[in-house]
Amino acid sequence: MSNDTLFARAKESIPGGVNSPVRAFGSVGGTPRFLVKASGAYVTDADGTEYVDLVGSWGPAILGHAQPDVVRAVQDAAALGLSFGASTPAETELAELVKARVAASGMSPIEKLRLVSTGTEATMTAIRLARGYTGRDLLVKFAGHYHGHSDGLLAEAGSGLATLALPGSAGVPAPIAAQTLVVPYNDLDALRVVFDERGDQIAAVITESAAANMGVLPPLPGFNAALVELAHEHGALVILDEVLTGFRVSASGYWGLSVSEGPAYQPDLFTFGKVIGGGMPLAALGGRAEIMDHLAPAGPVYQAGTLSGNPVAVAAGIATLERATAEVYSRLDAASVTLSNAVSDAFAREGVAHVVQRAGNLFSFVFADKQPRNYVDVQAQDVWRYAPFFHAMLDGGVSLPPSVFEAWFVSAMHDDEVLDRIIDVLPAAAKAAAA
Ligand code: PLP
Repeated sequence: MSNDTLFARAKESIPGGVNSPVRAFGSVGGTPRFLVKASGAYVTDADGTEYVDLVGSWGPAILGHAQPDVVRAVQDAAALGLSFGASTPAETELAELVKARVAASGMSPIEKLRLVSTGTEATMTAIRLARGYTGRDLLVKFAGHYHGHSDGLLAEAGSGLATLALPGSAGVPAPIAAQTLVVPYNDLDALRVVFDERGDQIAAVITESAAANMGVLPPLPGFNAALVELAHEHGALVILDEVLTGFRVSASGYWGLSVSEGPAYQPDLFTFGKVIGGGMPLAALGGRAEIMDHLAPAGPVYQAGTLSGNPVAVAAGIATLERATAEVYSRLDAASVTLSNAVSDAFAREGVAHVVQRAGNLFSFVFADKQPRNYVDVQAQDVWRYAPFFHAMLDGGVSLPPSVFEAWFVSAMHDDEVLDRIIDVLPAAAKAAAA
């Protein structure tokens, strides 16, 4: 069945024809591809067309799709039972693996880990925990950062800096959005204003360790360290959201990468998703025992889940993390540099003004002539250039994220042959972006 037919049929039974909005191709137009198979660096749609994939399931597919050892681990676990709703030895094994990996520069900020099923649950729980621990209600987030779709995080900046936020979606009650303060990213002065005015009411600042949901936009050097210092001065916690970056940009995530290069800083809670489940529904939050032990049943902050720590998902996570070796990260880094340079060269040849944005091996492009610092800057770019570029790539057999505000994901299977297939399509696609 063609993608057009499948999309029309899906729209009859599923709102907008999709189960997550970006999949609908809303910002690039056209018909989304309905996928039936993914293997290595490739995905195949229902028409039987194969594409080089640069979406990587939005992050989890770090080893490439359907990595045989991971698939075997999943099959073995499934054969022993799909879900027990009880503790398993493997959950502790995964927690120990994560604790060992998230250590850098002599710091081991994760002593305990709670497994959940989605990144949204991880950040939602981390926020409840921060509130329960501090006895305060307000949350600070940065404009353009995405932390999942729980009510309090679908909040948009109000009229002034220290003004409480407005709902960012229909269905979010204004009093809930008003528990959040939205501050421009990479702006310490703005953060100081908010802390000066409401510091004693703020439970936590939540930040993507490097923003990657408005395109890639890394923190300015020292920004994460300075925000941790400021929050701690006021008795607030810092939740470092590594759902997207964790175990992708280095063995210890963006935090590990940044403290090895810059000033040391120690957030209080971390959230993980995507790579930690290797493509299965698995996510986690972790931090110091003193804070984590406020979670039920050890403490008074409630959290639970029928499928939390699901044995099949945990098996996929362990198999993935065990294979995400130093060699895999250096391959990802090299592929990311080769590809982003090739795209940049193609744009330059066509005179397309652009900036390459990187956070470790994550990258994306901004159609502007100067480096953005925040959400206002990235929104001001020539957004319209992306749709023709995207479709020219898709016509040439390369599947990019269907929005300019998303990161590109390479995997350990993006070898020279795969990269060459992408690079071959770039001249025509860059021409389309220039038109
Ligand atoms: N946090 C970040 C940084 C994310 O990128 C995402 C998803 O893209 C989430 C949280 C939410 O994760 P999930 O989609 O698994 O709920």
